[in-house]
Amino acid sequence: MKIIMLGAPGAGKGTQARMISEKYGIPQISTGDIFRANIRNETELGKKAKSYMDQGLLVPDELTLDLVVDRLAQDDCAGGYILDGFPRTIPQAEALTGALKEQNTKIDFAIDVEVPDDNIVQRMSGRRACPKCGATYHIRYNPPQQDGICDGCGAELIQREDDKAETVQKRLTVYHSQTQPLIEYYKEQGCMHSVDGTRTMEEVFGDICALLG
Ligand code: ADP
Ligand code: AMP
Repeated sequence: MKIIMLGAPGAGKGTQARMISEKYGIPQISTGDIFRANIRNETELGKKAKSYMDQGLLVPDELTLDLVVDRLAQDDCAGGYILDGFPRTIPQAEALTGALKEQNTKIDFAIDVEVPDDNIVQRMSGRRACPKCGATYHIRYNPPQQDGICDGCGAELIQREDDKAETVQKRLTVYHSQTQPLIEYYKEQGCMHSVDGTRTMEEVFGDICALLG
């Protein structure tokens, strides 16, 4: 099963992708997580990506495409995967369609997690992330058992640099202009589905499971 999570930054893509990954036993591939790991490890890619991410801009397609195509070629992707945060532009979607076509396959489900912009800023300001295992929490809606500490691996949680209010606004503008057109693209491919992302995490997950079967 090959799944794409679409939706604004902070809509809950990562939260749902993690739950889908556990239930269906397929890997979650988050380009944001891959870039952040590169930043932590101070790689060349990390240095380049950081300058865009800090401004709320997308990392250019030429730095993103090969990375994803290489990742999808790894053994653990043979039974399917959930793409979380990719594609984010029409050229990325076209490149993905092309790469899948070469393997005689295609995306099964593109899922748009719909959340209005007004809710997003509140979601983002309360988001806390584990820099070690990538788990995501919310200080109000999904708090860790112990304040500031990851339930899964015990690392200290951080607030992402790009979750500051000004950067969130920029990311929303970028989302509407560059990523939202993908909804039309995947409608044309016949695999587009939407869920109401304003419901609780469990309710949203229930709606997604009903779709996936
Ligand atoms: P994305 O991957 O789309 O950027 P996340 O999954 O990181 O978004 O979610 C953004 C923030 O909102 C996180 O703090 C997360 O815990 C919280 N969140 C996710 N889903 C919900 C929900 N259904 N209701 C309330 N808060 C949520
Ligand atoms: P995310 O963790 O998905 O919110 O992504 C954080 C940031 O990483 C984004 O704001 C972009 O700067 C960058 N990024 C993640 N995925 C992509 C992508 N597919 N294309 C371009 N930039 C990306």
